[in-house]
Formats: sequence, structure tokens, C-alpha cells
Amino acid sequence: MIDPAFIEKFEQIATPFYYYDMELLGHTVDTLASLSRKYGIDVHYAVKANVERRILETIAGSGIGADCVSGNEVRRALECGFPAGRIVFAGVGKSDREIHEALNAGIEAFNCESLHEIYVINAMAAAFGLRARVAARINPNIDAHTHKYVTTGLFENKFGIARHEFDAMVDLLGRCGNIDFTGLHFHIGSQITEVRDVFSLEARRVDEIISYFEDKGLKVDNVDFGGGLGIDYEDPDSCPVAPFEDWFRTIISGYRRRPGQRLHLEPGRSVVAQCGTLISRVLFVKSGETKNFLILDAGMNDLIRPALYGAYHKIENLSSCFRKGFSEMQAYDVVGPVCESSDVWGQGRLLPLSVRGDLMAIRSAGAYGQVMASRYNLRDFAPAVFSDELENAPHFIDYFKRL
Ligand SMILES: *Cc1c(COP(=O)(O)O)cnc(C)c1O
Repeated sequence: MIDPAFIEKFEQIATPFYYYDMELLGHTVDTLASLSRKYGIDVHYAVKANVERRILETIAGSGIGADCVSGNEVRRALECGFPAGRIVFAGVGKSDREIHEALNAGIEAFNCESLHEIYVINAMAAAFGLRARVAARINPNIDAHTHKYVTTGLFENKFGIARHEFDAMVDLLGRCGNIDFTGLHFHIGSQITEVRDVFSLEARRVDEIISYFEDKGLKVDNVDFGGGLGIDYEDPDSCPVAPFEDWFRTIISGYRRRPGQRLHLEPGRSVVAQCGTLISRVLFVKSGETKNFLILDAGMNDLIRPALYGAYHKIENLSSCFRKGFSEMQAYDVVGPVCESSDVWGQGRLLPLSVRGDLMAIRSAGAYGQVMASRYNLRDFAPAVFSDELENAPHFIDYFKRL
């Protein structure tokens, strides 16, 4: 819930902007770090979900590691205080330059997604006289019961090494003189809400796969189950901290940890989604032939999830709480200004009667929001505003007051 005292301050800030509740972020990160210690599961935050420096610094400060998917993310993680030895680097297509920089930085591990990649990293490490720590990402063929664009662990997906190459992989690792093999990595998808069903299936499948490799003589010191824990987009206030403990317990009880083995998880969305809100204003109210439209000044270029995945974000009218004795509700199609018919925030949303200038909140926007923004239509990027820095928020305006 957004504190009315903050809403009054929003009146002074040019919209749209991303608002980050740093108190909630701190609480979420502390919860995660203490569960990590309690269950002996190491956590790396998936940096791609949100790369704002203040957010990364907060997460790094709690001792959580970083899971990166590009050379620039590795560099940003280092700049924001993650030690190199706590940074893993995943992704199906790492460029030579990205590999070279990460080798020089001495990262914790490359999570390799093909035999060809293992071969190339070994050759580059040899050329530079370095050693590379390498984990292999395996495709476990598990249906995460989530949107097809965010399912990553099925044989039809591009991610990970498939079963028919397992023996060849063991063989290749035996021949790679500059690689220290660290373990196996999995990641089956994102926004997984059937936590117990899906993750217990993953834990059991991982157990079988580890046994297969052990039988081939491969020692697996680290097992990384990936990320994917879902959050509640419908009702962001009932449980603002994601069900981390449920997730940890499900992994622990479904997987038989081998002596000395370290387990890892890589949450992205569940760490940052609920602390972020896209704040916008109503520009115009329009009654169409069959519907009423609320036209906001935030669009799909600011937050593409609804247009890309048909994703749901809760929408609230923040200004209406200041209108005394006002209770009339109205169904609106809430839309953005971008010239695309998919630039829709929500259809038939029941909201308090809204007027030009009302502040609107698009909730649960902290993950895969700002990082996926574009300048389509040559629109400006929505800046980040942090709850503990509201006083010096960037762009002040007053024209809404005058019109
Ligand atoms: C994106 C990603 C994650 C994080 O996924 P979430 O659903 O945001 O938790 C973790 N691991 C890898 C390898 C990823 O690509």
C-alpha cells in the first residue's frame, strides 16, 4: 500500500516515473538473507529483473550474490558492490569480449549452456593463461505451468544442455585443461505460482540428473535450482514479501543433498517486483461507443509486460483517496498514449470515477519493468524515484494545477 503522505509528494513530480519503496525492498532482502542462512541455501539475485544502482547496492549489502546474463550486468554488479567471487554469469550467447572480461574479473562461475560454449571458454582461458570455473546448465524438460514466453526448461526451449549430450559433456570436461568444473545449473521458468507442485518436481528431476552424472564419475559440488518464484500481481498488499520459505522448504525436502554439496537459488522477480510502482497521471477521459477510456501518460514503452505477455498489473487511482465522501465506481479501459493497440493497461477495470490529473499507480512493476523500457515513439525514459529520496526527486511540475 502506498502511504498517503507519499502520494502528496508525488503531486510535485513529473509523471510517469518508477517509485521504489526502499523499506519494503530492505525488508524483503533481509528476509531472504536470513532464510538463506537458516536453510543453508546460497542465494544469487538475478540482476536482469532490475538494475537500478540503489537497488543493487541494497541487495549486495545483505551478502546475497548476483546472477548476471551479460557482460554489462557483470560490470554493473561489480560497481554496485557484489564481490567477483559472488557473481555467476549465465546466458545462451556470451560474446568473446564478455567471456574475456568475466575471466579477468575472476567471477564465481560461468553457467554454460552448450558444449560449444564450454569448449570456447576453455580455449580462451588457455590463451590468456587463466582458469575458468564452469557450471553446466542442464535442460531438465520440466513444464513450469507458466506463460510460454517465460518457460525455459522444456526441450523445445533454447536454454541448457539436452540429455543426448550428457555423456559428450562429461567427456569434454575431462579434456578441458583450463576449466574447473563447479557443478550443475537449472532454471525452469518465471512467475511460477504452483510453488510446491512445480518446484518439488524440479527437485526430484534434478536429483535424478545428478545421480546420472555421479554414476559417470562427475563430482557435483554445487547445484543451482535457478529462480522463478512467482509473486501476487492480483493482490500486491496481502503478502508483499514473496513465499520464499515455502520455496526453500520445497527444494530441501524434494532433493537429497549430497555430503559437502552447496545448493543455490537465483530469485529475480520475487526480490524486486512488489517494491516498484509505475506512477502515472490521467491525461484524458474519453467515452467511446461502448466503453470509457482512461488515457494515461505511461505507456507500453515504460512497462511492456501487459503488451508482451498479456500480463496483469493492479491499477489504483491514488488521488481518489483524497476526495471525501466519494464512492462512485466506473468500469474503464485504461490505456497508454503509444500508437499501438496493444498499449493497454487493463480492460474493464472498476475504478473510482477518475478525472484529468489523477495520479494512477500501476503496481508490482519493480521487476522486468524499467529494465525493458524503450524510447519507442521517441518518448522519454521514466526515471526512478526512491521512497527515501522523495525530497530531491528529479522533475518538478505545476502545469496540471493550472489547466
Ligand atoms: C531470469 C533468470 C532468473 C530469475 O528468474 P525470476 O523468475 O525473475 O526469479 C534466474 N536464473 C536465470 C538463469 C535466469 O535467466
